[in-house]
Amino acid sequence: VPPPATAWLTAAALAPLAEVTYAGAPLDRAEPLRADAGALKRLRNDPDSRLVPVWRNAVLIEQSRDRPHAVTAPGGWAPADPALAPEEIAVLGRDARGRAWFALQIPAGQGDANGPALGLGGRFMPLRGVGPSLAADHAAILAQAVGVLAWHRRHRFCPSCGAPSQPDEGGWRRRCAGPDCGAAQFPRTDPAVIMLVHHGRGAAARCLLGRGARLPAGMVSTLAGFVEPGETLEEAVRREVIEETGVRIGRVAYAGSQPWPFPSSVMLGFHAEAESTDITLDPRELDFADWFSRDQVAGFGPPGAGGWSLPRGDSIARRLIRGWLAGDVFVDGA
Ligand SMILES: [Zn+2]
Repeated sequence: VPPPATAWLTAAALAPLAEVTYAGAPLDRAEPLRADAGALKRLRNDPDSRLVPVWRNAVLIEQSRDRPHAVTAPGGWAPADPALAPEEIAVLGRDARGRAWFALQIPAGQGDANGPALGLGGRFMPLRGVGPSLAADHAAILAQAVGVLAWHRRHRFCPSCGAPSQPDEGGWRRRCAGPDCGAAQFPRTDPAVIMLVHHGRGAAARCLLGRGARLPAGMVSTLAGFVEPGETLEEAVRREVIEETGVRIGRVAYAGSQPWPFPSSVMLGFHAEAESTDITLDPRELDFADWFSRDQVAGFGPPGAGGWSLPRGDSIARRLIRGWLAGDVFVDGA
């Protein structure tokens, strides 16, 4: 295993990662407020505050204007049907106008496939599908809301003793209610590495793209995987690439990240330089992987057109690929 290598990436490689979907929420996260139950209750009922209803991983979207936008409710709002009363409430923070924002978890068991009718207009749509079409600041607020509430839904019991846990700290902690325990849990974010592997330079440059069974037909993407206990991010990049494709990686350089609360990841993007090119697929992970030139990748068509296609434009995978298509990714010309 090569030692950790640090390399500076070119401005062209970094530029596509300067703005990513779900990043850049205009809220301060209001950490000092979280412990102040009285202030939270007052703000929750202040009509200037904004309430973001979340149902499963879906958010309330109004399609009537020229682009979809998020529907919120004023502070103090409550659903007419008591069965729809929020199961959890988390404070998201304050915006530049000082308004407090809250996420409300509408009970997952209520409503049909489009979610329950709250009387606010719009309909529930999965954030993962609609997020890229929303205004960037709203997509980021909704990502925070969906992420923290998904954590509550999946962590109702103490992982130490198995007793039920209760939310506190404005929805940013759960405390075990079991006897002689009281363990505290905080919202998790699971790091996943995603890497554009390349080899060679100039006209000989190739990048490694592959596809797992879950990708749409014809789509190839960067490799990715979860960071395991006891390894650095760079080691995770090297391990995932050699496990999935047999390709040995030398230098690894961090390029940028993307919140990915579906349900609880942050995608950590890297450029990685291959030291070998023979491919041995792990069929449990990938159906296909191969090396592609810049001309080949630039000629990929839209999804479903019959040839190869790339992931959605808002994905960090696509942004890493764009960075490589722009030219050398390492400042020393690799
Ligand atoms: Zn416990």
